[in-house]
Order: sequence, then structure tokens, then C-alpha cells
Amino acid sequence: MKKGKKIYEGKAKILYETDKPDLVIQDFKDDATAFDATKKGSIKDKGVINNEISCALFQLLESKGIPTHFVKKLSDREMLVKKVDIILVEVTMRNISAGGLSKLLGIEEGIVLKSPVLEYHYKKDSLHDPLINDDHIELLGLATAKEMKKVKDYSSSINEILKDFFNKCGLKLVDFKLEFGRHKGRLLLADEISPDTCRLWDKKTNEKLDKDRFRRDLGKIEEAYQEVLKRIKS
Ligand code: UDP
Repeated sequence: MKKGKKIYEGKAKILYETDKPDLVIQDFKDDATAFDATKKGSIKDKGVINNEISCALFQLLESKGIPTHFVKKLSDREMLVKKVDIILVEVTMRNISAGGLSKLLGIEEGIVLKSPVLEYHYKKDSLHDPLINDDHIELLGLATAKEMKKVKDYSSSINEILKDFFNKCGLKLVDFKLEFGRHKGRLLLADEISPDTCRLWDKKTNEKLDKDRFRRDLGKIEEAYQEVLKRIKS
């Protein structure tokens, strides 16, 4: 697969054209940002680890009937994916209170939620990704009601699949963020699923094994990402 022109550079990944118009390469960087990119840094080998974890999770989800943009792993840092038109809605699923939910509702972190909580955020940096609902999505024309029904159904299924998978790896899936896109008229799960986009806590100790170690300066950041990869592979 020939790597072509750079199409887009985001905070954690770069997208490149290929010789096929409907396929692109996602190249995972070590760069890390938090708090609206006001905190910047680099996590050694994060790109390699997140690429490997994402590839494994997309394959798992595909095997369970979730359509994703994943085509194949190309190299340490590169994944071949179907080119999508990204829906500007970040979907968050939560099983345990933490981060934004605790702040929003004034509740402590670590409370097991009676049922999963689904949130939508408008993917717009200049507005700081505000919390939105179905009516806002309709108003802005970000996605159709039919697409949002699928987004919701897929997100619930993904949560069940990932919760079960991580549980078997000795990890609690606290929350995670998903992005969807359109490819040839089909809705596909896109972006990445990694310790950058999920909160993962050790089942026994509740030790944080995700990007909160970077956000909150908890130390042992690389070790946490490596530990998640090790548990997924074993
Ligand atoms: N998340 C993400 N990208 C974002 C915001 C959040 O991947 O731009 C992930 C985050 O890692 C966590 C989940 O979504 O697993 C919920 O994040 P939250 O809304 O609590 O926001 P945060 O506390 O990260 O600001």
C-alpha cells in the first residue's frame, strides 16, 4: 500500500492518502494533549501501543458484528482504514463515574452506575466540545435520526463487548469515547480505541491504567500503556 500525501494532522494521529481513494492510513503519534490541548507532552511509544491495541479491539468488534473502518495493521504505527466522513459527535459511554461526569453532576469518582450513561459532545474545539443532545444534533444537521439510532445501538453493544473483554483482562472499563463516520453510505465505527480514549482501572486495585496518568501527572505513564497492551495480548 503506497503512502501518499498527508490529508490531516490531529493531536494523536496523522492521516495519509493511499493509492486507493477510499482507503487512508492512520499513523499514530506519541504526542499527548489534555484539557483542550493546553497540556502538551509526549508518551514514549504511545503510538505503537495505541495502534496495536486499537487494531486488536477493532478486530474483536468486527468479529462480533460491529462495522468498523479497520482494514489491516500496516506497521508498528500505521493502520489501513476505510476513508470516512466523520460525524462531528463524540459518543461517550460510562459505566463508572469519573472525569467529566463527576464534574458535571458533582458526584465522586468510582461510583458504579446502575446502567450505562450515554453522552454526546459536539466535536468542535472552538466551543470546547460541549455536551449536546439529539435535538441539538438534529438542529445542527450533524447526523440523521436514523444514523443516531444506529450510533446508540452500536455504542451499547460495543460497551457490552468491551466491558466483557477488559474484565477478562483484569480491567474495569470505566468510560470511553467513540467516533463514527460514513463510508459509501454506511455507518462505521472510526477513529481509535485505546488508553487515550478509554478509562481503564485495574480490577483489584483500581489503579488507573490510562491517559489520566498523563492528565493528572500520576507518573508511570508509559508503564500503564504497556501494561494494558500486555494484558490484552495475554
Ligand atoms: N475522551 C476522549 N477524547 C476527548 C474527551 C474524552 O477520548 O476529547 C475520553 C476520555 O479518555 C474518557 C471518556 O472519553 O475515557 C470520558 O471523558 P470525560 O467526558 O470524562 O472528559 P475528561 O475528563 O477526559 O475531560
